[in-house]
Amino acid sequence: MSFYYSVASGSSGNCAVWQSGETSVLIDLGVSVRALNQALHRIDMEIPNLSAVLLTHEHTDHIKGLATFVKKYELPVYATFGTGAAILQKLPQAKKNFRLFAGGETFFVDGLRVQSMPISHDAAEPVAYRIDGGGHQLGYVTDTGFLSDEVQQTICGCDTVVLESNHDVDMLRHGPYPFYLQQRIRGKLGHLSNEACADGALKAVKNGAKRLVLAHLSDKNNNPLAALRCTQRALRGADCEVYVAPRGAMEQPIPLTEEGAPCCMFG
Ligand SMILES: [Zn+2]
Ligand SMILES: [Zn+2]
Repeated sequence: MSFYYSVASGSSGNCAVWQSGETSVLIDLGVSVRALNQALHRIDMEIPNLSAVLLTHEHTDHIKGLATFVKKYELPVYATFGTGAAILQKLPQAKKNFRLFAGGETFFVDGLRVQSMPISHDAAEPVAYRIDGGGHQLGYVTDTGFLSDEVQQTICGCDTVVLESNHDVDMLRHGPYPFYLQQRIRGKLGHLSNEACADGALKAVKNGAKRLVLAHLSDKNNNPLAALRCTQRALRGADCEVYVAPRGAMEQPIPLTEEGAPCCMFG
């Protein structure tokens, strides 16, 4: 079965499983290995069933479990040169697992073709991913201050798109964060608002997305209903399933039922 399964999503931790055809990969490792094992257990998986871990960037909410992981497992961990260097400063023992690449490069992990895309975030060399293989296509874009044309074109034709819907602009403005932090979050190197997500979601759906997962919601400056409503309003009843990734592990995976429609009408 092919599926997307969110293990954790939000500022306290991010981690997801993508299984397409015979190959499964983990995207980010922002939970403890114990929590990862528990979540995988729910979907009858174990860490050795995974082919690799793909990291987006070095922020703690994306690599929290990495130190324990590299101690226990030999699985390859893909990261950009910049992300790898930032992590190795604090965690040199990760070197044996690392497969480093330049942001923008494409590589293969078993049955999957993985295309990385540079994004705009206050990290060393952050990336988003497009993963093709097994009859499905995933676009995975979180932790970016804006959606560039390059990213939107690259995820064109993906049947499943995970998009950051980090904050509601008004909740951020009136919320508990100090001004400098608000500036960081809504800046070019910060995070996507619900509105920016909705805009990207509409383009993704016009370009073939059948499933959208809203991800990396702030617990202080957003709530699932506000994020969902904002994107659904933009989609105006388009034929697309919309999910909100919970902070903890999903009850069950999102099955990839239909073959993706590889149409591309970007614009
Ligand atoms: Zn980040
Ligand atoms: Zn993050």
